[in-house]
Amino acid sequence: MNLPQIKPVGPRDAKIMIVGEAPGQNEVYRGEPFVGASGQELDKMLHEAGILRSECFITNVCPWQPPRNDIKKFFLKHTAYARIPGPEIEEGMKLLSQQIDEVKPNIIIALGDTALWALTGETGITNWRGSTLESDQNLNPDNYKVLPTFHPAAVLRKWDWRFITVHDLKRAKKESEFPEIRRPDYNFLIRPNFQTVMETLNDLISRANNPAKHPIERPENVSPGKFPIHQWWRDPQKFRVSVDIETRRGHIACIGIAWSSLDALCIPLMCKENLEGYWSKEEEWEIILKVKELLLHPNVGVIGQNFLYDAQYFAKFYGYIPNVIDDTMIKHHVCWSGVSKGLDFLSSLYCDFHEYWKNEGKEFDIAHHSEDRLWVYNCKDAVITYEVNERLNELIPQLQLEGPYTFQMRQFRPILKMMLRGVRIDQTTKNKLALELFDAIASREQWIIDVLGQPLNVKSPKQMKELFYEEFGMSIIKNRKTGAPTLNAEALQKLVTKEPLLKPLADVIEEIRSLGVFLNTFVKASIDRDGRMRCSYSIAGPETFRYASSKDAFGFGTNLQNIPKGN
Ligand code: URA
Repeated sequence: MNLPQIKPVGPRDAKIMIVGEAPGQNEVYRGEPFVGASGQELDKMLHEAGILRSECFITNVCPWQPPRNDIKKFFLKHTAYARIPGPEIEEGMKLLSQQIDEVKPNIIIALGDTALWALTGETGITNWRGSTLESDQNLNPDNYKVLPTFHPAAVLRKWDWRFITVHDLKRAKKESEFPEIRRPDYNFLIRPNFQTVMETLNDLISRANNPAKHPIERPENVSPGKFPIHQWWRDPQKFRVSVDIETRRGHIACIGIAWSSLDALCIPLMCKENLEGYWSKEEEWEIILKVKELLLHPNVGVIGQNFLYDAQYFAKFYGYIPNVIDDTMIKHHVCWSGVSKGLDFLSSLYCDFHEYWKNEGKEFDIAHHSEDRLWVYNCKDAVITYEVNERLNELIPQLQLEGPYTFQMRQFRPILKMMLRGVRIDQTTKNKLALELFDAIASREQWIIDVLGQPLNVKSPKQMKELFYEEFGMSIIKNRKTGAPTLNAEALQKLVTKEPLLKPLADVIEEIRSLGVFLNTFVKASIDRDGRMRCSYSIAGPETFRYASSKDAFGFGTNLQNIPKGN
């Protein structure tokens, strides 16, 4: 390679290896990795995680600086899913493999997406970060332990990611004490027969009947019966089970129940091998009644992640609402509102072991995958929810947030009832309003024809660009994020300041757009078969805790919060 090559630094027997992408100008100048702004931030984060830079072996996927610091220039193909490396990356990866063989680290920290890809073959750092993964055998035949996290340059651009990165580095520090991957020893009951399901459910019910049989930790200074009523979710007497359903086309495909952070049962209902369902009608009936007995048992506390979603299904198909006492999404939102709250993110923050698994369910494709894959996924969701809840139970009192969490959880049932009950819609007024809006749009479209001498579809980016940027010859305004030419509301305003004659046309286009949203999103929002509008409400939605509303799980309703004031 005809470029200056930088050398890795650090002890050859380091337990921690850090792999970046490629050097920048500062690194090339000094001949060492991570000495510029990213390197300085990396040092600070390592320090906060209890890692000394001097104890780490630091290197890069590629030891040469890419043109304009754009690593894509060193790839023949670089998309979100496919990457074909060019000679610089291929050569760099060979060197990296040799360095790994020499150092034999207990953990390799992959900084950013390129290092993640080079070391594991995966892409998508936001998903995979914080996971404990095996290195790709194509890179090195021996398996090494890899922990990806955000690149410090990305942290400098998006400061919100800093605490997450420090958190991942702390996990890496712990993982550096041993070389092997210590996965949890899950005990999942998959593809059960009728007897196994009934025995397991009966066993859980008998444990709930007899709390002495399951050891429960009692918070200090709380005697039985003295538990403050407003903190019922901390009730140590409750036998906790976490519940998660998977759905398919608006129906329950399976129900996962976990009673520890390792043990779970998946009760399948749908099954592609038998289109009539997994059970006979009589068996399914008995199982559903047994599940109901458990989830309505007075000593049972149900834990869920975003359980308002699951509870809608229980209410709609089985006619009851399980005894929910804890929702991990709401609990986490109370602790850190504004931070991501998907179960995968929660797992990466709170679980002893984390390995991103959400691709297994999201990419589940009935035609090509065995159902077992979905059932394991379902059990994983349930045990991880259980473990996340345990951690949050410790965190909430530490942050003294028992009151706010209790307040939020008290809204669970009223909210669910709002979702189930819906609101009656006056169909005549709705239809009249739709017609009025339709007329208002049509008269504006006619105005455009009168003025331009031809119709204009304001929803067509192609027609809009042809008109403004080709016919009118206005200078192109680009979208700040995508860099593509745009004619969004902001761009139209800018064009009007350059050419005031365009103002009436720009105003009419904006009106047509806004009337269209009003008509299609709000007035035409789907109404349930009984003429009521049902929406989904989220307690753990916006940072401010105002409710967020959206289409519900069954495709009815809409976002009711943003109806334009309009006149
Ligand atoms: N960014 C990297 O990925 N590596 C370096 O060495 C410096 C900045």
